[in-house]
Amino acid sequence: MINTYKYEGHTPAPWSVRRGQRNTVLIESTTLGCSDCGSADIYTYENTNGEEIQFPHSVEPAPFTLSPDKYHGKWQMYCPSCDLLDYAESIDATQNDADFELIADAPKLLAEVKRLLAWKKLVSDIVQQQDSPHLREMLKELIE
Ligand SMILES: [Zn+2]
Repeated sequence: MINTYKYEGHTPAPWSVRRGQRNTVLIESTTLGCSDCGSADIYTYENTNGEEIQFPHSVEPAPFTLSPDKYHGKWQMYCPSCDLLDYAESIDATQNDADFELIADAPKLLAEVKRLLAWKKLVSDIVQQQDSPHLREMLKELIE
């Protein structure tokens, strides 16, 4: 059993991993985040559908709408945890310890996926061989 607690706060997918110069590995996320704290829990024109947002305890307590226009290719964003109105940045997935844990555990996670797929196939095979509609329904719910 893998303890997934240590992955909490990892950079959201998608990631792109490529080889850099001198055997470095570059990990980039196309997920946008706060330009200050890197949190992906931000508001942009896109994810608010252009509607007004309001944070009564913010330095900007009045309702406001984020800009529909990009500035130098970046969306305007509001980060509630920083109480910051700025332009979003792509999240740097090399600065987050939870991301390192995920990267380091990739072989264990792959092994777990293979184990679970084999288990799913076994359960699916049992369901195929059973005539009992009740058991079939129960197992079907389990594997879906
Ligand atoms: Zn922030």
